[in-house]
Amino acid sequence: MKEQTLVLIKPDGLKKSLTGNILTTLSESRLEIAGAKVVKVSRRLAEKHYQHLKKKPFYEELIRYIRGELHGKKKVLVLVYYGEDAIDKVREIAGATNPEEADAESIRGKYGRITTKGIFENVIHASKNREEAEKEIKLWFKPDEIIFKLYPTEMVTRSKVKVKAWKR
Ligand code: UDP
Ligand code: MG
Repeated sequence: MKEQTLVLIKPDGLKKSLTGNILTTLSESRLEIAGAKVVKVSRRLAEKHYQHLKKKPFYEELIRYIRGELHGKKKVLVLVYYGEDAIDKVREIAGATNPEEADAESIRGKYGRITTKGIFENVIHASKNREEAEKEIKLWFKPDEIIFKLYPTEMVTRSKVKVKAWKR
């Protein structure tokens, strides 16, 4: 069945100029890009994304990693891929979490490394299952930033919300 998944090209991927390479590899899956943007990751966003790892000893370093503090590249490229078995297809292309255990042909196997502090710098994030994909896509994207209607939406009126706008 068709489904969607969230992909992040992490700061090490950007620093190593792997963006083109990773996008080419992902395009071989024949999945469609449904959304894409560059994001400067706030502490709040990083913490929400890695909520499930809060108790791990490497958590603080992981937050620093995803925020780009280890690579001097304070951004990630965020994408939504859509299509048949998107979640498993992208996870397979990404490879195992530990780059030393990842298939040598996978993105993580090819380009990942383990830092001296023990963090897996594995270049790419990919949602693990449908529940995680939904949580992550809703966390990283607003409904109008995705070209398909992936999840139900509603119209809400938000008054007194300050937003930054282009100066007229
Ligand atoms: N991670 C790590 N050491 C570990 C487990 C995870 O450095 O022992 C990092 C790694 O960058 C990984 C991220 O934390 O991609 C999120 O971990 P998760 O278990 O969700 O793995 P993933 O879903 O990314 O394969
Ligand atoms: Mg995960």
